[in-house]
Amino acid sequence: MISKNEKHKAAMKKQKENVDASIKAASIERGVSILLTGNGKGKSSSAFGMVLRALGYGHKIGVVQFLKGEQLSGEEIYIKNQCPDIYFYQMGTGFTWDTQDRTADIAAAEETWSKVVPLLQDASYDLIVLDELTYMLAYKYLDEDVIIDALSDRPENQSVVVTGRGGGSALQGIMDTVSEVKEVKHAFKDGIKARKGVDY
Ligand code: ATP
Ligand code: MG
Repeated sequence: MISKNEKHKAAMKKQKENVDASIKAASIERGVSILLTGNGKGKSSSAFGMVLRALGYGHKIGVVQFLKGEQLSGEEIYIKNQCPDIYFYQMGTGFTWDTQDRTADIAAAEETWSKVVPLLQDASYDLIVLDELTYMLAYKYLDEDVIIDALSDRPENQSVVVTGRGGGSALQGIMDTVSEVKEVKHAFKDGIKARKGVDY
């Protein structure tokens, strides 16, 4: 009779063969585009996790945040104070249901996008984070084709991370990696307040 240990060993051997074969097959070396979407918590914090990784290798990083502006976040405080080498820009008009001014929102979105364009043309940047960009598409504040072209035409070795719910099928289509964070549950629904250092 085959023991549990032997079965496990055989399964692990098979798994290792599969992983090794996949690693060997992945021979393309270039920057990747990543879309982090879905209703669950973890999109922006994942993007800033990649910022931390890139920092570890001394990579050049650009971060542009759409939508968020009123609420300070730990990442904003840290980057502004401790990371002078990271290019950081925030749209800073707050949520649309706060401003209720579509014309002003569009102007702010376009102004913010104008900061993104040179980053996506500059091969010295290794990693660009476009936090909450998807809402600019959802509200039609920015033109989808313009965004898709700029993302697609970026330098070969530059990686880009886009976060936000939705984003549309065209954006999903051009990104190399698309992850949907699913909300299984969220503390907020149990009345637990957003937590400093965890939620913002
Ligand atoms: P995080 O920045 O924590 O990774 P996120 O980027 O996935 O979150 P956003 O939609 O940008 O999510 O919302 C940011 C804030 O809203 C965070 O404080 C987060 O905890 C909270 N949040 C995220 N998802 C939910 C949800 N499903 N219900 C309530 N609050 C949420
Ligand atoms: Mg977010």
